[in-house]
Amino acid sequence: MRATVMYGAEDVRVETVPDASLIEPTDALVRVTHACVCGSDLWPYRTMEHSETGRRMGHEAIGVVEAIGDDVHTVKRGDVVIMPFAYSDGACVFCQEGLQTSCIHGGFFGTGGAADGAQAEAVRVPQADGTLFVLPADKDDALLPSLLTLSDVMGTGHHAAVTARVGPGKSVAVVGDGAVGLCGVIAARRLGAERIILLGRHPDRIALAKTFGATDIVSERGDEAVERVRELTGGFGAHSVLECVGLEQSMRAAISIARPGGAVGRVGVPQDETMPASQLAFYNNVTVSGGPAPVRAYIQELLPDILEGRIEPGRVFDRTVCLDGIPDGYRAMNDREAIKVMIEF
Ligand SMILES: [Zn+2]
Repeated sequence: MRATVMYGAEDVRVETVPDASLIEPTDALVRVTHACVCGSDLWPYRTMEHSETGRRMGHEAIGVVEAIGDDVHTVKRGDVVIMPFAYSDGACVFCQEGLQTSCIHGGFFGTGGAADGAQAEAVRVPQADGTLFVLPADKDDALLPSLLTLSDVMGTGHHAAVTARVGPGKSVAVVGDGAVGLCGVIAARRLGAERIILLGRHPDRIALAKTFGATDIVSERGDEAVERVRELTGGFGAHSVLECVGLEQSMRAAISIARPGGAVGRVGVPQDETMPASQLAFYNNVTVSGGPAPVRAYIQELLPDILEGRIEPGRVFDRTVCLDGIPDGYRAMNDREAIKVMIEF
């Protein structure tokens, strides 16, 4: 089969690799029909050291179950499924608490670990019963891009909003205008936020954010951005801040624009060991929360809004490529030519 392999910075190749197959009795084999490139794939795209063996990429997919192991009971051959970016058994103490990204038998796809990437014709899914979400058979195929976002970006934007304690009447600021930030805008509106301020600078993303429910746009940088958000929020800052980037500068901005007693929900993978603006967070009693989103837990909640047309997160995909177009898809996202790239097989 063919799959996406990253060999180093700006070196993504689509190659023939050994066919994915069942290994454990709890595995399923999924034929991928839709996948995508993630903002987090761009970190290694920019910085990865050259590797002789390469890393199999991709962690977001929809596909058709082609085979199941002997110990798989809730999914069957032919089911159309969402594959969240983390696999999880659905049964352990953390899965039962809705924190599948900490599953004691879990792990992540496409990170060079036990589970290969999903930017491939097929993928082996460990812990299939707990991991895969079976879509209703009568779904409208036009909804597939939006359903695909439940494998990561929509669930991740929702997690940022939940951990930032967004609620009715709250003021919200979203740091980052990538696909996750834009889904964060959707999530904030869905949870009843009154004011939603997007910090971003790209005209195409700003336009989409406004259709998703952003009430204000702040395009200034640094201290000026902080000042502007304070002006928009009665001088105090936002109740809830969604940090959707992961850089030192963006985290500093997020804490700086949070109102005393407010909360920052961070879902951008931090690129630094230390947390900036720690003293400011302390003196303002700002809660800093967030982490890898347990998207598997959120699918059930978000799915009806997509099926019934209340939210359209699939609009973050502004380019579609086939398997051979994947390297150019990475380039387009890295160059900010595309917000998010979908791969159709
Ligand atoms: Zn678990």
